[in-house]
Amino acid sequence: MGRVTDTEEIRAALEAVIDPELRRSIVELDMVRAIDISPNGVVDVTVSLTTPGCPIKDHFQSSVAQAVSALEGVTHVNVYFDVLSDSQKAALQQKLGRGSLPAGALAQVSNVLCIGSGKGGVGKSTLTANLAAALTAEGKRVGILDADVWGYSIPRMYGLGATRPPVSAQRKIVPLEAHGVKVMSIGFFVEEDAAVVWRGPMLHKALTQFLQDVDWGALDFLLIDLPPGTGDVQLSLIQTVAVSGAVVVTTPSVVALADVRKAVEMFRQVNVEILGVVENMSYFACPHCNGKIDVFGHGEGERMAQNFELPFLGEIEIDPQIRIGGDTGKPVASLGENAPGAKSIYAMARQVAARLSMVNLSAPAPVVQIL
Ligand code: ADP
Repeated sequence: MGRVTDTEEIRAALEAVIDPELRRSIVELDMVRAIDISPNGVVDVTVSLTTPGCPIKDHFQSSVAQAVSALEGVTHVNVYFDVLSDSQKAALQQKLGRGSLPAGALAQVSNVLCIGSGKGGVGKSTLTANLAAALTAEGKRVGILDADVWGYSIPRMYGLGATRPPVSAQRKIVPLEAHGVKVMSIGFFVEEDAAVVWRGPMLHKALTQFLQDVDWGALDFLLIDLPPGTGDVQLSLIQTVAVSGAVVVTTPSVVALADVRKAVEMFRQVNVEILGVVENMSYFACPHCNGKIDVFGHGEGERMAQNFELPFLGEIEIDPQIRIGGDTGKPVASLGENAPGAKSIYAMARQVAARLSMVNLSAPAPVVQIL
C-alpha cells in the first residue's frame, strides 16, 4: 500500500473549503473539529456548523470530500457534522469582529433579541412593545433598546415622553421604566417628534453607547427594535453585540415576501440565528359574528417561513385595541393575557421564548452523513 496522507496535509487541503457566508476557510474559522485517518486510507472529517440546520451543509459535504479525496492514499472520505458549542461560537464571533463591545458590557443580560422587518409599517415596534410586556408578565426581566432611530415609537408606546434618563453615580445612563420594562430610546434625547438626521457613524456611536453605557442591570431579555430595512445601521448594530436570536415581522401580503427575504438574508449574512417569522395584522376578528376576516389574505407568513425553512411564530390579528394601546402608552399585553388583542401576542411570546431556549440548548447529536 502506498503512503497515506497525514492530518497536516488534510488540514492544508481543507484551506480550500470556504464558508460561502463568512467567506473564509473552514480551517481559519476553526470549524474543522476532527480528522481521523485509518491505515486503509479512509478519512473521517468532522466539521462544526454554526447552527444545526445550516443550509450550506451540502456545500461543505461535497467540498470537503473533493478536497480530501484528491490527497495521496485516500480511498474514502466520510464527512460528519456537529454544532459549535456556545464558547466556540463566541470565539468565532470574536474572530469575525462581532460582539465588539468591551468585556463586561451587557454581562448580566442573558439574551439579546433583535426584532427586524424588511420595511416599515408592518408593526415591528408594536410587536416589540407587546412582546416585552408579555414576557414581563411571564416573570421575565426585560429591556427594550429602541434602535428604530428614524421612527422611534417605543417612548410613545410605553407612555414615556422626551424625558432625559438620569445618570447614576457610576456615570451610567439609567433606563426609564414603564410597565416593568426598562426602556432606552433616542427619543428621550430629542424634542418630541423631532426627526433624527444623524447619519451612519454618529448613529452607530449613539447606539453603541446605549448598549455599553446604559445600566441595563440583570435582564433575561434585551429586545432591540431595529430600524426597518436592511442597511448599514442595522448590520453594524447587529455586529456590535452578540445577538442570541432574531424575529422577523411581516404582514400577510404576498408582496411582503421580498422584504422578508431581505431581512432573512441580512441576519444570515452575519450569522444570527433567526428564531422565526411573525405575521402581524393577519386577520380581523369580527366583533359581531366572531368570525375571522382575512383582510390582506391568509397564510402568507407561514408560507414565507416555510420558504426560508424558518419556524412560524404565530399570527397577530388587527385589533383597534392594539393600535390604541400603542397610542396611549399602554401596550395591550401589559393589561394581561385576557385583554382584548393580547391572547395571540402571549402565544407568540411563548413561541419566541421556547425557540430561544431550544437554540440556546441545541447541542444535538452529530448529523452523520456518509458518502
Ligand atoms: P413599524 O415599527 O413596523 O414601522 P408600527 O409598530 O409603528 O410599525 O405600526 C404601524 C401602525 O400600525 C401603528 O399605528 C400601529 O399602532 C398599527 N398596528 C400595528 N400592529 C397592529 C395590529 N396588530 N392591530 C392594529 N394596529 C396595528
